[in-house]
Amino acid sequence: MNMLEDLLSTLLMLLVACAMVIAYLSPIIGLSLVWSFLRKRAARRRMQNLFIKCGYDLRGSNERCPECNTSFERSRC
Ligand SMILES: [Zn+2]
Repeated sequence: MNMLEDLLSTLLMLLVACAMVIAYLSPIIGLSLVWSFLRKRAARRRMQNLFIKCGYDLRGSNERCPECNTSFERSRC
């Protein structure tokens, strides 16, 4: 009986330790997923000649995006 209690106590401590590791790592994993998504979206928009900020097609625009009214330099977008 005492051995079973020790085993259950050890399993409970292991479960709590795993939960703490997941709780500490989840913000880092979440932020890295968001950062990865934003980088991929910017790269895709750059390849398709779209404005990085809003995704609008800038081929007919000169200095301001007609969608979000943000000024841009032709070489940077
Ligand atoms: Zn825009």
